[in-house]
Amino acid sequence: KGQKPNPLLEARKALPIWPHAQSIRAALKKNNVLVLTGETGSGKSTQVPQFLLSEPWCQKCIAVTQPRRMAAISLARRVAQEMSCPPPGRVPGAKVGYSVRFDNATGPHTRVKFLTEGMLLQEMVRDREMEEYSAIIVDEVHERSVNVDLILGFLKNLLSDLENGRLKKRKNPLKVVVMSATVDVGALVQFFGEGSKESEDTQQTLHSDVSSTLVGTQQNQDISTCYIEGRQYPVQTIYLPEPTQNWVESALIHIFQIHRKEPLPGDILVFLTGREKIEKLEKLVNEYAEGLEDSLPKLLVLPLFSALPQHAQQRIFMPTPHRTRKVILATNVAETSVTVPGVRYVIDCGKSKIKEYRNALGLESLLAKPISKSAADQRKGRAGREAPGKCYRLYTEDGYNGFADRTQPEILRCDLSHALLTMVAAGIGLRDVFSFPFLDPPPRGAIERAVALLHDIGAVTEEAEIANDALTMAKFPLTPALSRVLIEAATPERNCLEDVVDIVSALSTEDIFLNLANEERKKEDAEAARRGFYRRSGDHMTLLAAVQGYLEETSDRKAWCAKHFISHRAMQNVVKVRKQLLELCQRLSLVPNSSSSVDPPTANASPEEHTKRVLQCFARGFMRNIARLMPDGSYQTLVSKQTVAIHPSSVLYGRKTDYLLFTEFVFTNRAWVKGVSAPDVGALE
Ligand code: ADP
Repeated sequence: KGQKPNPLLEARKALPIWPHAQSIRAALKKNNVLVLTGETGSGKSTQVPQFLLSEPWCQKCIAVTQPRRMAAISLARRVAQEMSCPPPGRVPGAKVGYSVRFDNATGPHTRVKFLTEGMLLQEMVRDREMEEYSAIIVDEVHERSVNVDLILGFLKNLLSDLENGRLKKRKNPLKVVVMSATVDVGALVQFFGEGSKESEDTQQTLHSDVSSTLVGTQQNQDISTCYIEGRQYPVQTIYLPEPTQNWVESALIHIFQIHRKEPLPGDILVFLTGREKIEKLEKLVNEYAEGLEDSLPKLLVLPLFSALPQHAQQRIFMPTPHRTRKVILATNVAETSVTVPGVRYVIDCGKSKIKEYRNALGLESLLAKPISKSAADQRKGRAGREAPGKCYRLYTEDGYNGFADRTQPEILRCDLSHALLTMVAAGIGLRDVFSFPFLDPPPRGAIERAVALLHDIGAVTEEAEIANDALTMAKFPLTPALSRVLIEAATPERNCLEDVVDIVSALSTEDIFLNLANEERKKEDAEAARRGFYRRSGDHMTLLAAVQGYLEETSDRKAWCAKHFISHRAMQNVVKVRKQLLELCQRLSLVPNSSSSVDPPTANASPEEHTKRVLQCFARGFMRNIARLMPDGSYQTLVSKQTVAIHPSSVLYGRKTDYLLFTEFVFTNRAWVKGVSAPDVGALE
C-alpha cells in the first residue's frame, strides 16, 4: 500500500541478531524447542518475535516473558514502534501488547504479548494447554527466577503431553524459544531433551559443537540451539586497592574522576543495590555537580530501578544532549534486562539485593549480597558495547576472586509456598510436586516447609489434600498470605472486605508515605501533616485512613498528596490495584452483588470491633508473623522464637505493645519488621 519504511528498520538491521533471522526460522520449522543465547543488546527480545510472526505455524499469539514489569512494558512499546503499529493498549489495532500485574494492555488483535513471568503462570493456571499461543518465548532465563523455573517445568510437561497426544483441546504445535544472555546452554538442552528420543551422547556432542563454533545454528531432532555473537570491545578492569564499606562515597569519587579525566562521548553506568542508595547518590552527585567549573561538560543524572515510572525510564534511551555526560544510577535491571546506550564507563558496587529465605526466622527477606563472577562480568560488559571502555570495581581483585561463579537459582534459596500454590492450582497433585521437572530441584525440606505454610493458611487440609480455597488464592496476583487475608475478610464473621482490599492495595504498591529519611528538615512537617492518619493500632489501619482520605478527596488529589507528604504516584497505583482486586473479588464471588447483598454492612460494628476484625484477617494470613513483647523489652516471634525490632518507618516505632503482627520483614544490620500492628490479644485467638 506504499507504506513508508519504518525509520527504525536500519537500526534493526544493524543488530547482531539480524543475519540469523533465517536460521532461527528454519530451526523452529524443524524443531519445537530452540535455545538461543546472545549477549544483552544483540536484539533477542525485540527481534525474535518479529522474525516468527509470519511463519505458517504462527497463526495465534506469541508470548514473550520478562522477569520485570518494567522490561515487559518498555519492550512492548519499542516493538510496536518498530512494527509501525499503535502503542500497546486495549485498542483493536494494537498488535503488540503487554500484560503485567494490575495492568493489562492487550487487545483482541494482539499478536505479540510481552508479559511478566508471573502473569504467564497465571495464564497457565487458567489454561494448561496454552491454546491462545503459537509460541512462547522465555526470555532472560539466566536470571533463574523461581517463576522461570516453573515455566520451564510446565512447558516441558506440556510439550511431552502434546507429543504423546494427551491433550484434550490443543492440536497445533507449540513452539518454545528459551533465551539467555549466558552461553551456558548445556543444562537447558539437556533439560528439554531428557526423556525424549535423543540419547545423552548426542546432546553432549551438540553442546560442544555450539561452544566450539560459537556461531550458527546447530540442530538435533528435538532441540535447536543458536548462538548470537555479540559486539564486545575490550574493557579495562580497575579494582580498588583496599576493600571499602563506603561504596556510595567511593562511587561518587569515581564519577567525578571519570568526568574530569575522560573525554566525551562516554556515559557512566553505576550499579547500586536499590532505590534508597540510588536516591542518596543522585542527591550527592547533583550537589557536587553544582560546583563544577563552566569549562566542564554538564552531568545528567538518571536513576533506573523497577519502581520508576515509565516516562522516567524512557529517558535513558534518549540521546545524550550536547556537551553533557549521562550518569545512570541503576539496580541490576541494567545488568541484562535493559540495554543502556552510550555507556563507556561502568562503576560496579559488587552487590545486589537478592531474595533469601532465612531458615532460622522462617521468613523471606531481601538482602544486599555480593554478586557472582558472572554477574560482575555482565556488568563490566556493559562498558564495551559501542567502543573500548573501563570498568571500575568498588572491590578488590581478591574480593572478585571470592565471588561465586554464578548466582544461585532463586528456587534454591527462597520460600516456595507461592510456587507450590501455583503448581497445585495448575492441577499438579501435592505428591507429584516432588517429581515435577525442575531444572534444579529444590531441597525436599524446602518443599515440605512450603506445604506446612500452605497448611497454616488453609490452602492444604489436615489430610494433605488441596483445599478449595487454594484455587481461589492462586487466582489472586498476590502472595498466598495476602490472598488468604482477602478470603478471610469476605467471610460473614469478618465482613470487612472493602477495607481490607484498601490496605492490601497499599501494601502491594510502593510506599505511599514519602520517604524523608534523607531530608531532615522536612521530617517534622511531614509528621505533623500525616498525624491525622496515624492510628493507635498501627500501620495497617493507618494505611487505610490515608487511602480513604485520598478517595474522599475529590477536587485536587495531587495537592492533597503534596499537603500530606504522600506520594501521588503511589496513590494512583493503589487506586488502580484496588479497582482490580475488587473486580477480581466479584468475579470469584467473594462479594455478593450489591443488589443481592444480604449481609448487613459493618456499619453496626464499633470502631474498635472493626479494627479488631480487620487485624484478625491479617493474623489469619500471617500467623507466623506474630511476636510477643519480652521482659527485656525486645520482641520475639511466637513460632520461630526470633528477636525482631519495629522498623523506624512504622507508626508503632518506639512503642511497646504486648503482641505485634507484621506483614513485612527486612534484614539489614538486624531483623526489622515493617507493616506492624498491635492487634487486640483476642485477634490472635
Ligand atoms: P537483547 O534482548 O538481546 O538484550 P533487545 O532486543 O532487548 O536485546 O535490544 C536490542 C536493541 O534495541 C538495544 O540495543 C536498544 O538499542 C534497542 N532498544 C530496546 N528497547 C528499547 C526501548 N525501549 N527504547 C529504545 N531502544 C530500545
